[in-house]
Amino acid sequence: MKIAVLPGDGIGPEIMAQAVKVLQRLVRDGLKFELEYAPIGGAGFDACGDPLPEATLKLARQADAVLLGAVGGYRYDKLPRQQRPERGLLRIRKELGVFANLRPALVYAELAHATTLKPEVVAGLDIMILRELTGDIYFGEPRGRRTNAKGEREGFDTMLYSESEIRRIARVGFDIARKRHRKLCSVDKANVLETSQLWREVVSEVGKEYPDIALSHMYVDNAAMQLVRNPKQFDVILTGNLFGDILSDQASMLTGSIGMLPSASLDERSKGLFEPIHGSAPDIAGKNIANPLATILSAAMMLRYTCNLEETAQRIEQAVKKVLAKGLRTADIFQEGTRKVGTEEMGDAVVDAL
Ligand code: NAD
Repeated sequence: MKIAVLPGDGIGPEIMAQAVKVLQRLVRDGLKFELEYAPIGGAGFDACGDPLPEATLKLARQADAVLLGAVGGYRYDKLPRQQRPERGLLRIRKELGVFANLRPALVYAELAHATTLKPEVVAGLDIMILRELTGDIYFGEPRGRRTNAKGEREGFDTMLYSESEIRRIARVGFDIARKRHRKLCSVDKANVLETSQLWREVVSEVGKEYPDIALSHMYVDNAAMQLVRNPKQFDVILTGNLFGDILSDQASMLTGSIGMLPSASLDERSKGLFEPIHGSAPDIAGKNIANPLATILSAAMMLRYTCNLEETAQRIEQAVKKVLAKGLRTADIFQEGTRKVGTEEMGDAVVDAL
């Protein structure tokens, strides 16, 4: 396995170092990884004036999988849009064609009290949010700024999905539901948006090929409410890029901390980009306090989805559970009665548990 390692900015390098430790521990058990590092985001801009340097993209294309930390930082906020770190992220997703973003939201028994909701609402929660990642209003053209007839500034974006884009993400959704509890809830805003009406139509058509899966549809505003009212009603949530972005961050809070949530973004052949769902957390960067578990769990997803190493993926997930059961916590998930540890110590503990 050749893995492109793109630590990125802020806490990216710190959390990535812990995931790499875990992979290196697996090498002792006979797995072979070739890890190659490259800059992305602000680091890419600093190195080459481009948030996605050509060499980084080339490496990502050649590699079997890409493991990414996070991008972004205050220093880069004033750059023109094309040079912003986040553009590097959007571009690599688009260039690799990773259209299916899997974001599990799982509540570990030990962390049921770390959420701001009542523990009984989230205890045992295990949902999968499947977000379409390469279409929608984030990529639709035309977009831009202009001055209207009244001399006022306007900004505009285009929400756009083609039938084939909806069909392929819907298939991924139904396939995932088949491996879980056979329930798929498609989230849209079909009462208002043309794009969503097509989305609902196409998802329903694909649903006919999966009679064993219970398909339901929900408006995104209701879905946002249901996610905090009774999140356990969901199994797989299928949605577009914009709604998925927001709902998956909301779901992250059901689990207690954004620092716990991994993600996988897969192409048609399950090659993928694996990254924690959080950002570069510039407020805590360089302090050895960031939670590395989302990145470690992203590496586990890489082993599961791209390398087909289900057992090894589970070993990592079990090791994380063990460490939590022992009471070790980074600051973001710390509570009375547990032991606060830093980023490195948390990484070492997972390696020990392995
Ligand atoms: P963020 O996710 O970086 O941080 C939000 C809050 O969560 C902060 O208080 C942060 O300290 C905390 N947090 C995040 N990850 C954590 C971890 N692993 N452990 C402990 N605490 C953690 O979001 P933001 O503050 O809105 O954005 C910061 C920068 O990151 C911006 O430049 C933004 O554009 C970028 N960003 C990047 C990604 C990505 O790379 N995928 C995603 C979101 C935001």
